[in-house]
Amino acid sequence: MATLTAVQPAPPHADVKARIAEAVDAARGEILELSHRIHANPEPAFEEVQAASWIAAILRERGFTVEHPAGSLATAIRATMRGGRPGPGPRIGILAEFDALPGLGHGCGHNTMAASGVGAAIALAAVVDELPGEIVFLGTPAEERGSGKKTMIDDGLFDGIDAALLFHPCDRSHVESHPLASEDVDVVFHGLQAHAAADPWKGRNALDAMILLFSSVGLWRQQLRTDARVHGIIQEGGTAANIIPDRTRAWFMLRSADQAYYEEMKARFRELVDAAALATGTTVDISFSGGAMTMKQNGTLEARWVANAAAYGIADQGPDPNSGSTDMGNVSWVCPTIHPELAIAPEGTPGHSILFRDAAATPAADATTLLAATLVAQTAYELFADPELVAAAWRDFHGADGADGAKRAAGA
Ligand SMILES: [Zn+2]
Repeated sequence: MATLTAVQPAPPHADVKARIAEAVDAARGEILELSHRIHANPEPAFEEVQAASWIAAILRERGFTVEHPAGSLATAIRATMRGGRPGPGPRIGILAEFDALPGLGHGCGHNTMAASGVGAAIALAAVVDELPGEIVFLGTPAEERGSGKKTMIDDGLFDGIDAALLFHPCDRSHVESHPLASEDVDVVFHGLQAHAAADPWKGRNALDAMILLFSSVGLWRQQLRTDARVHGIIQEGGTAANIIPDRTRAWFMLRSADQAYYEEMKARFRELVDAAALATGTTVDISFSGGAMTMKQNGTLEARWVANAAAYGIADQGPDPNSGSTDMGNVSWVCPTIHPELAIAPEGTPGHSILFRDAAATPAADATTLLAATLVAQTAYELFADPELVAAAWRDFHGADGADGAKRAAGA
């Protein structure tokens, strides 16, 4: 297996990891300014026009080749930079989210994810001469609604990625989480208008159908597994008390910790919807958004993150007992993935709240954002430097599937 090309030995990890930390520190003004600017200008899913253009501009300036828009989503970004070391190497995905919650702003702190992802890309670019392979930054819109990463996967933007890394802010620090499979469901009942006092018998009441559906869902919860969730809001409930409503609309979400059970829930929910329409003589349109999936764990990547975080005095607090959902789960079924969380707020601060929103632009959040950029870049660097680590992550990826299946079959 002799090779004619003399390949220089890779520099020691510690030296390059220190340079990564220095590069994040040197760019701290730019990273935090981006975090604060996105925080002050919240844009909901699919509408992150400003955030995406600011991110794309910074990466372009830093020497990345930037596709924006990327694929079919107007606010998606794919930015690449080839490593300076000769020979084959991995493609490591550095991800960033930047969407906000309607009516709340950055109550999930995605501004810190955008800034830390950009910071990690800047830091890796600073040591690009030490890297084989390719840095692939993926700006992923619409995490809070509609699963932007699912669309980006379908668009081929994750093809050839060897590992994907994405930090998320939290009230605790932990690398392992078990997000629920989840989907947005749009339900529209169609009835027939009539005067609510003069001739109500001529109408078909689309609001009655909606109320029946909510009642059915409420009763259904008694029979659901404890790790399942179903919740919704009525977006259109009629227009006037003296008109029999001919149209109502709701936005539901279905969730489960188990992908197979989730599919059963979806089928049952359809039956509840059809039953409400049948009982009220209305018709119904139901549409599913295409969902977020559960997370396939990757012990190899998790162990590297935990070790790198420990070097900065961060002790892992263990898996989050209260997971929501994330389309990072979808990525985890495409390539080895980690979605580590670091505290930006005191433990107990609720997510998706004004408290968490306000916490996402404090000095504590800023410090965590910079640390996240450093840890993501350092963990990525280890993958660039060590082909065996990438191979181990893929062995985990293929092995974990069977293990998960066995656990599911055992009803664990
Ligand atoms: Zn989030």
